[in-house]
Amino acid sequence: MKEGGTPQKTLTFLERFYLAEVLKGLWITGAHFFRNLLVHTGRALGVVKKRRGAVTIQYPEERRPIPPGYRARHRLLRREDGSPKCVACMMCPTICPARCIHIRAAESPDPTIEKYPVEFNIVLDRCVMCGLCVEACPVDAIRMDTGVVEMSAYDREEFVTGRDFLMESTPADERAEAEE
Ligand code: SF4
Ligand code: SF4
Repeated sequence: MKEGGTPQKTLTFLERFYLAEVLKGLWITGAHFFRNLLVHTGRALGVVKKRRGAVTIQYPEERRPIPPGYRARHRLLRREDGSPKCVACMMCPTICPARCIHIRAAESPDPTIEKYPVEFNIVLDRCVMCGLCVEACPVDAIRMDTGVVEMSAYDREEFVTGRDFLMESTPADERAEAEE
């Protein structure tokens, strides 16, 4: 064992004789298979109501529905004139536990608003999807209702979402209505 490492488990005689372990694996797989077969058959016949058998989702063609309120990729809301609703108060980067929100503020041309974000970046591969930024926002300028939960990229820089991208993002229910 390396110093500070996890101690290695010593194999028993039966474990070293791999056939027993292979049979154990087959037994577990078979037990799951027949239990699911029974549950699905029972449900089809209406005799099983409470238990649900395991199902295979044919991802990506088929996707699990996202429950309402599920925290997904962020979006920034706009005012009626299209400008960002965000007043660059810095509450969200302050509360963010992952330190992944970066804002550069400037004086707003609108005399009724003090500041606005010239830059508003969220580094998504650092975000822990806690939703604290949404909770902290005093003007409801940031939401996590896009329904986008699959985030992958070839380059880490692609995870940095900028202000305009966040403002162009649409809520999931709006997209669903447009697709109908
Ligand atoms: S969801 Fe949490 S971790 Fe992600 S940006 Fe908001 S506050 Fe930060
Ligand atoms: S908390 Fe709201 S208003 Fe304040 S900087 Fe964040 S998004 Fe903008």
